[in-house]
Amino acid sequence: MVLIIYGSMENFYGLTLTQLESIIGALGKEKYRSRQLFKWIYNKNVLEFGKMTDLSKSLINMFKDMFFLSPLKTKDVFSSKDGTMKFAFVCDDGNIVESVLIPDKDRLTLCLSSQIGCRMGCRFCVTGRIGFIRNLKTSEIIGQLMGVRQHPGVDKITNIVLMGMGEPLDNFDNVMPALEIMKEPSGLDFSHRRITLSTVGLIGVLKSVMPKTAGIAISLNAADDKTRSELMPINRLYPIEEIVDFVRNYKADRRTRITFEYVLINGVNDSLEDAEKLAKLLKGLKCKINLIPYNESPFIDFKRPSEKTVERFHNHLINRYYTTIVRDSRGGDIHGACGQLGMRYLDQG
Ligand code: SAH
Ligand code: SF4
Repeated sequence: MVLIIYGSMENFYGLTLTQLESIIGALGKEKYRSRQLFKWIYNKNVLEFGKMTDLSKSLINMFKDMFFLSPLKTKDVFSSKDGTMKFAFVCDDGNIVESVLIPDKDRLTLCLSSQIGCRMGCRFCVTGRIGFIRNLKTSEIIGQLMGVRQHPGVDKITNIVLMGMGEPLDNFDNVMPALEIMKEPSGLDFSHRRITLSTVGLIGVLKSVMPKTAGIAISLNAADDKTRSELMPINRLYPIEEIVDFVRNYKADRRTRITFEYVLINGVNDSLEDAEKLAKLLKGLKCKINLIPYNESPFIDFKRPSEKTVERFHNHLINRYYTTIVRDSRGGDIHGACGQLGMRYLDQG
């Protein structure tokens, strides 16, 4: 009699160590095999089970039958004058996902997408204009990272930011396991200090993210509810006061502070009065402020303020003793800067 077991192969990049341990344990194999696999696949970047020299032939065959290892397929790579690279990956269903690799002094930061499109509808953001197409699977989030790593000449990635397409907390169920995989010491071994999750502030979900999961950046973008609701419809659900309350009560370790992101848009939220409103709003909060001068796109009418306006806003916050930086835009010439990802969806009409 021939026994046929019907089952589908699992994408290895979608499994946390704990999940892998239970799969391997259920087959009666040793638990440490899971760490061994993580080491080969994530630490040593090996893509074939056959090359894992400390596994027996029979184990190799078993893993080959159970798992497949395929990073997302690269469709295009664009290189900016400033060294930034944008990767366009194609998913199995034909959707395109973009990731951006940003070298900066001793850091190499990878900006990952969490969704295709986004349902938050922020008026200034190209991804928001696309609308929601679908959530990325855990294997597609890790698949971006592993896809970038396969590219020749890419050095060791030191930092991860979830600031690409999509709202990561709107895809909590797939993003959390991806963070767990990134942090696993036997594999990629990113510390929580080297991962930043950027969110519009879905407070309900944010409360369930443990402080040591990742650094949190909240996109504030305005210091009053009227302006913020106009820019970001989600503000009607989670107004500014709720965000401030959340940050006030956030119990992280001493070195961790929440970052506020503030996109400076010409004539919308960039006046000195706005800067003062922001300073008053955040008074007494343990936080950092990242100012992002608006990145323009052909699809949206908002404009970037002049350098002088940005400097004036920045100086005002510094004079109020806030740790504030202006995040210089990288990769604008390849449409890889914040808020520019996914343009090809709009191009197609
Ligand atoms: N959805 C998450 C993460 C992705 S957007 C979030 O909104 O936080 C990452 C950052 O890019 C956010 O701070 C957002 O406000 C900013 N952003 C969006 N469009 C932009 C644009 N055109 N120019 C500059 N920053 C932009
Ligand atoms: Fe979505 Fe962030 Fe863009 Fe808003 S800014 S539409 S949340 S990706």
